[in-house]
Amino acid sequence: MNMGRAFLLSIGNELLSGLTVDTNAAWISGQLAEQGIPTIGVLTVPDEIADTVESLRLAVSKADIVITTGGLGPTDDDLTRQSLAQYLGVELQFQPELFESIAAFFRRRNFPMVEKNRIQAYLPAGTEAIPNSTGTAPGMLACKDKVRIFCLPGVPSEMKVMFTDFLVPRLAELTDRQVVVSRRLKCFGTGESMIAEKLGNLMLRGRNPLINCTVSDAVITLHIVATAPDRPSAEVMIQKDQTALCEILGDWVYGRDDQTLAEVVGARLAAAGKTLAVAESCTGGLIAKMLTDIPGSSRYLSCGWVTYSNQAKQSELGVDPALLAQYGAVSEPVVRAMAEGARRKSGADFALAVTGIAGPDGGTEQKPVGLVYIGVQTPDQTIVQKCQFPQSRAMIRNRAALAALNLVRLQMNG
Ligand code: AMP
Ligand code: MG
Repeated sequence: MNMGRAFLLSIGNELLSGLTVDTNAAWISGQLAEQGIPTIGVLTVPDEIADTVESLRLAVSKADIVITTGGLGPTDDDLTRQSLAQYLGVELQFQPELFESIAAFFRRRNFPMVEKNRIQAYLPAGTEAIPNSTGTAPGMLACKDKVRIFCLPGVPSEMKVMFTDFLVPRLAELTDRQVVVSRRLKCFGTGESMIAEKLGNLMLRGRNPLINCTVSDAVITLHIVATAPDRPSAEVMIQKDQTALCEILGDWVYGRDDQTLAEVVGARLAAAGKTLAVAESCTGGLIAKMLTDIPGSSRYLSCGWVTYSNQAKQSELGVDPALLAQYGAVSEPVVRAMAEGARRKSGADFALAVTGIAGPDGGTEQKPVGLVYIGVQTPDQTIVQKCQFPQSRAMIRNRAALAALNLVRLQMNG
């Protein structure tokens, strides 16, 4: 028995032209990971027999399990059946029982069956049909050089049912019964290279648990992936690594799995019975939006202002016009005054304020695009953070909102 390594072939011209995004490979590799089977390659292949045969050869040379999707339809551009036969060096054979089950599918749907569907009742000699309960295209299972080749239809809904009903039990027989459990730690406030530097040998390849790092919208996700004979053992391994990672990374770790910064901040406020008010300029309500995306946010969000103009900063938040005149709207004194005004006017326990230059225009040498001031007033003090974010307007605004929520979180950490 071996652990089983999988290679995926996504077959279809529409995948190469960009018309269809290859969601099948992403879904299948995720499912395989849960079975403890690593995917070692994905290849996108055109609807051509020669290319498909060559790709099958490559995949079989590299992996123990090959899964193809696509090319099983009844039309002349779907050639996986013919390709598999050619690769195996066998003929396609008509399967009367398969033909009958396809005919029965059409009868159930009250739909006429045309001659073209007949091709779907052919299988390369020596292969096994994989039943398709939700469509007409049966799949195929072949074995070559001890490698199992599973061919599934391209239609994602049909493919998924067949994977779950047929492949999962078969794969369990083929591979060692290892379980793979993963957990994600979410970090904010630093870069991935810094995290990798701090973690050092913990991120070594080949380690178990394996620790991987991904970044999206400035949030760094550490994936802890443990492989063990059973789930409890894997959980113990994960917990041990989680503790080690949290100790090393400290305040950078804000949550787990799918948690957002807004969720974590909200939960902290709710647990402490505290409220928050937000006064936003360049983020235009984005922070309030992130907070109110969470059901139950009325427990802690008291109110929010979008004070875009200097006039609004004065009339809504009581910012002193002299500060605006002397330092400009994007400045430390103004963000401080905005936070203090928001707290005073709302009566909330915490107030958060943001003012910055989201661009693309409006930057100067002293105040470039991406300059953002964030202020938090707590019951004890007012803290201001000056940030310089790179890139587009959307990214600057998003980063500013996240950094602002993070500053509240850090204040609640004490
Ligand atoms: P086929 O089995 O080649 O007839 O595929 C049928 C349909 O499934 C295609 O027209 C696509 O819309 C969809 N499809 C095929 N391959 C994929 C894939 N890898 N990811 C997502 N959709 C796919
Ligand atoms: Mg196709």
